Amino acid sequence: MTFATLGLAADLQETVAREGYDEPTPVQAAAIPLVLAGRDVLAAAQTGTGKTAAFVLPILERLRPEASTAISPARHPVRVLILAPTRELAVQVAESVRTYGQSLPLRSCVVHGGVPMNPQVKMLWSGVEILVATPGRLLDHVAQGTVKLGQVEVLVLDEADRMLDMGFIPDVRRIVALLPARRQTLFFSATFSDEIRHLAQEFLHDPAIVEVARRNTIADNLSQALYPVDGARKADLLVHLIERDRMTQVLVFTRTKTGAGRLAAYLDRRGVRAVAIHGDRSQPERTRALEDFKRGDVTVLVATDVASRGLDIEELPHVVNFELPADPQDYIHRIGRTGRAGASGTAISLVSPDEVDQLRAVQRLLRAAIPCRVVEAFLPGQPAPRDGAPSPERRAGRAPAPRSRDTSRGRRTPVASSGR
Ligand code: AMP
Repeated sequence: MTFATLGLAADLQETVAREGYDEPTPVQAAAIPLVLAGRDVLAAAQTGTGKTAAFVLPILERLRPEASTAISPARHPVRVLILAPTRELAVQVAESVRTYGQSLPLRSCVVHGGVPMNPQVKMLWSGVEILVATPGRLLDHVAQGTVKLGQVEVLVLDEADRMLDMGFIPDVRRIVALLPARRQTLFFSATFSDEIRHLAQEFLHDPAIVEVARRNTIADNLSQALYPVDGARKADLLVHLIERDRMTQVLVFTRTKTGAGRLAAYLDRRGVRAVAIHGDRSQPERTRALEDFKRGDVTVLVATDVASRGLDIEELPHVVNFELPADPQDYIHRIGRTGRAGASGTAISLVSPDEVDQLRAVQRLLRAAIPCRVVEAFLPGQPAPRDGAPSPERRAGRAPAPRSRDTSRGRRTPVASSGR
């Protein structure tokens, strides 16, 4: 299978070749011909499967006849609207639109919250064919009259499951009501819950269904491990694993924003360069943190689930669940950040005794046990060493855990030991 056989013109084939793509990913092979044929598509595809190119490339091909070098804004109405749940994902998708569309005179821009409206207003007034937006900020522009959506031909809902989780569906409904009824709609979601299927029925017309990975499964090139650990010693175990395995780029998930900030500060004090990225930080701060991480200037990026959406970091080798998520679906989203587009990755979960229920829920969803590894000195109930910096949990006033000198290496044990 090649991009040529999928029906893309020579210039787009050249663009993807320049990006180093030798062949279409499964979601691209399945979705591109359907989108080119004008079908509505309901696609189950996680981040990392190449889903962005799966909709952007055929959309560019469909817009080709409308591509115009004319200056007049009237010649550049919004024809494609791509809705994304977070700023990071919106920026990422907009970058892909620019990269893949470099051979065509089509205009695109991205609008999201957290930054001033005015520069966005100027871009919208000058005319754009492809608009990538987060729902809230788009509605702000609609209310101000800076954007008209009456000529939209294609609507894309990216990471629809996350839009649902974040409570954006009422906004999405408001936006959809402003679009022409005759349009093509593409719906991408990491998972297909019943709620997602109902929404798809509402927004899509006779959709073709693309489901490339099995429901709630993870990539083959991804290895998972869980480490049972005393809750108060997780940060120490994390430092130990980073040093032992010489990790250079680690995305760590915490459940709360304050937990993210606290952990990043602790890691920094222990000599592991770390930054936290979460919704409370300003957009320039988040962008800078992400760039430092991508460049390799910091080893650890600590993120909450919401802040992590849309982060596209190529070949990210390690993802760590500092805490298991309350919603097991988030486990799948999180570990989807590694093992992307063929690169191998490791997803590690630090699991304390009070997280047994979450672990059960995740393993039920995966329909598999996560392989368990043990670093004995960090197991619950081990005595603590006297030296070393206080862990963030201890500083936060929780009961200090017993600690012991750690000289052990990881070894495999059956998962049954951690509460399955
Ligand atoms: P996405 O799932 O859209 O977030 O894409 C994940 C990553 O895969 C991005 O870094 C893309 O540049 C890359 N990618 C997309 N399509 C291909 C392809 N056909 N071959 C290799 N890499 C790809």
